[in-house]
Amino acid sequence: MKIYRLGMHENATTQKLLDLPPAAFAHFAAVGTWKSQREPCNSCGWGRETIVPPLVVQWEPSSKVIGDFSWDGPFGLTPIVRDSAAAVLSAPEFCCQLHPVVYIKPDRIRQTVAFPYNGPTLQWSDCQARVELDREASGVTMLSSCSFCGDTRFDFRMEGIVIRKSAWSGQLMFRIATNGHSN
Ligand SMILES: [Zn+2]
Repeated sequence: MKIYRLGMHENATTQKLLDLPPAAFAHFAAVGTWKSQREPCNSCGWGRETIVPPLVVQWEPSSKVIGDFSWDGPFGLTPIVRDSAAAVLSAPEFCCQLHPVVYIKPDRIRQTVAFPYNGPTLQWSDCQARVELDREASGVTMLSSCSFCGDTRFDFRMEGIVIRKSAWSGQLMFRIATNGHSN
């Protein structure tokens, strides 16, 4: 079976930022709606903030061309999709919830999608499925674990990661837990 990785670029390093080619498709900043699920932890300070609908999008200087998938890029984790992609992703096997998107005025207009937004309808495709890595086989190590709140962080690996068949229940799209902080 062939597995595809969705997303824009590998990792957010300064060197990669410098090396980035001009963006072929528009990307955005996800500026909301942030919601804290609890008070920040007294020990590690993490407040378990997550984004809840509607996704608040601010287009960034990149391109005026809207792709089938747009990302909170250039190192995004949050895809918004056009209707054609949303129609596919709405099948239950993709484990996606589709949510509305609202737009706020961009900070800069050069090479940026026009505001007010009048492009194709876009929806936030929020993948609900999580699959665990085989951490030992993947060479992923735990970086920190807060004994107070239980927040756990792992280092992030792109190559050579292993998922046991037993950890996967057939979802056609999933996010990988226990790699970085993508839980
Ligand atoms: Zn904590």
